[in-house]
Amino acid sequence: MQTLPHHMIDSHFHLLSIEQKGIEVDPLLNTMQEHFMEGIDIGLEADDLTARAKRFAAYPFVHLSGGIGPWGVKEGEIPVDIQLETLLKQLDETNAVAIGEVGLDNHWDYGTKTTQEGLLLSQIEISEQRNLPVIFHNREADEQFTTLLRSRGFSRQGVFHCFQGSEELAKLAIHKGFYLSFAGPLTYKANKSMQELFTTIPAERILLETDSPYLSPNPMRGRPNTPLNMEHIYRFAADLRGIELTDLVEQVKSNFHSFLTG
Ligand SMILES: [Zn+2]
Repeated sequence: MQTLPHHMIDSHFHLLSIEQKGIEVDPLLNTMQEHFMEGIDIGLEADDLTARAKRFAAYPFVHLSGGIGPWGVKEGEIPVDIQLETLLKQLDETNAVAIGEVGLDNHWDYGTKTTQEGLLLSQIEISEQRNLPVIFHNREADEQFTTLLRSRGFSRQGVFHCFQGSEELAKLAIHKGFYLSFAGPLTYKANKSMQELFTTIPAERILLETDSPYLSPNPMRGRPNTPLNMEHIYRFAADLRGIELTDLVEQVKSNFHSFLTG
């Protein structure tokens, strides 16, 4: 651990899910603090924000987002209007820095395209009302996101988390002011076109993330992921772009603070 670079950002992780994988979160957070890491613990459901705010209050470098992912429209879920009420109440009780993750997922087919879009649009409205950036989850929904981005403007610069979309969507997202955040899959051998795309993204629009406990980067693939694996993503990303690690750390930190402050 002595070699862990300082000041790394992890723009997207899920601490409660990491804990559920049997990893002790407090020692992990202490290590993050010792290395001046900073990042966002991301909401998945309407009612997880207040609990996370209490649980991680001692760690001010852990920012929080709140939002309902597309899984919120699954069959058997609480009605969406009640979920949205809960989210609004918890946003009032806490200091969330962003709305998310929210989005569209055609891989798992939660609900229907229409119900997913309805939930997403309601939360984009909330983000506008509260002047917060949005964190988009896009799984196999490039076409819908293209239509959405073309149809409106966004008052804050949001982010496409774990970007795996096309070059066309990347260009449109950048044009619309978004950041693109890359995760462990960037380091996977099979993802050559993602790696090529990554080298073309303007430096000031890049964010990096683990999405832990999911998507461990090489060489940690197959094990539960944690924010400490950011090191592997940073080193790989710096090599890809042919820049010094310290310069990438500086750039992403500056991008992240612009994301937070708008
Ligand atoms: Zn996530």
